[in-house]
Amino acid sequence: MRVLVINCGSSSLKYQVLEMEGEQLLAKGLVERIGMEGSVITHRKLTGEEEEKWVNETPMPTHKEAIQQVLNAIVDPEHGVVKSLAGIDAIGHRVVHAGEAYSHSVVVDETVLKTLEDCIELAPLHNPPNIMGIRACQELMPGKPNVAVFDTAYHQTMRPQAYIYALPYEYYEKYRVRRYGFHGTSHKYVAHRAAEILGIPDKDLKLITCHLGNGASITAIRGGEVVDTSMGFTPLEGLVMGTRSGDIDPSIMTYIAQREHLSNDEVIEVLNKKSGVLGISGISSDFRDLEAAAIDGNERAQLAMKVFAHKVRFFIGAYIAELNGVDAIVFTAGVGENDMGMRDIILDNLDNLGIHLDLIKNRVRGKEAIISASDSKVKILLIPTNEELMIARDTVWRVNLLKQGIK
Ligand code: ADP
Repeated sequence: MRVLVINCGSSSLKYQVLEMEGEQLLAKGLVERIGMEGSVITHRKLTGEEEEKWVNETPMPTHKEAIQQVLNAIVDPEHGVVKSLAGIDAIGHRVVHAGEAYSHSVVVDETVLKTLEDCIELAPLHNPPNIMGIRACQELMPGKPNVAVFDTAYHQTMRPQAYIYALPYEYYEKYRVRRYGFHGTSHKYVAHRAAEILGIPDKDLKLITCHLGNGASITAIRGGEVVDTSMGFTPLEGLVMGTRSGDIDPSIMTYIAQREHLSNDEVIEVLNKKSGVLGISGISSDFRDLEAAAIDGNERAQLAMKVFAHKVRFFIGAYIAELNGVDAIVFTAGVGENDMGMRDIILDNLDNLGIHLDLIKNRVRGKEAIISASDSKVKILLIPTNEELMIARDTVWRVNLLKQGIK
């Protein structure tokens, strides 16, 4: 089965074409500046180790034209990977928010689209472009199954004690205010992969998965099911991130709003875009810049990295308590996969918890590795995430069920 994976943002779109027999990546690309001047598609065709890049600048006023350009690229006689659209069997879409409606991926129909529209108020920036992407595919490839894969779905196994906020209960009943969690597709992918690497079935494993990218979240998983996760009602809660504050005392919001004469929206903007390691360091949200500055002796860059690590350690400790022990800790995403120095700081001095990083094995970036010392009770794994592959796998799963008449 050949699957087109689509990840639609507000002004950009990422895509991949995968041959699922052998899980081979055939092409991938990025559309940027949708609805702006200078819309451009960068398409990459992959043959073995070879990668051929094709860039085409052409007007794309809406997501429909963007998807049309993606389809043109993948069937292009020179740069394409299929002869015609008949060569694509299904489309898998990343969708950020499904509220409490779905705990797994689903084949899209009008009822699903209506549910996703109802969730727009929970994810006003993300769900609208996700829905536009699905509608464009329905229009441009009529009859092909579209499968929605949700960032929130994997976390739906959390029990109420993990997802209910200590607020008036009616806010949950009236407005669905609760912890949802995000990055679910990534946590699920690395959790499965960890089980494969360790040769232990998911059902017998207690895992803590650390997705540390620009956005960062950490998840406690028992027996293949999420027990708790650090992001909450929105992706602002939990760990310190590139530009997001993570957990803060909520009273700070009104305190700062009064003193800085900011509206509610402006405070939220500060918490989302001007905080995190960028806010502390005043330098950058990118850990490569922070590390360079820290090495040069910049104290705020050093502090930003320490605060980031402190919070990850804080959650690791909390989740070990929640799981009553842990078999493996997994690191993934930009920082988790590449930043060996940060992993050193996060995992330093945890021997009493049975966590012992091998400093030599930890000198690795961007590839699967077991980086714990041989005497470490808790295994430490580095697993590059692959959300697109997870979306494609779920797409195949749902399409096969659909063929058996199961929706
Ligand atoms: P997202 O998908 O959330 O935008 P990524 O998972 O791609 O983020 O992570 C991006 C971040 O990863 C960058 O901002 C940077 O801080 C970090 N990163 C990438 N490569 C390295 C590296 N070699 N060393 C340290 N940090 C890195």
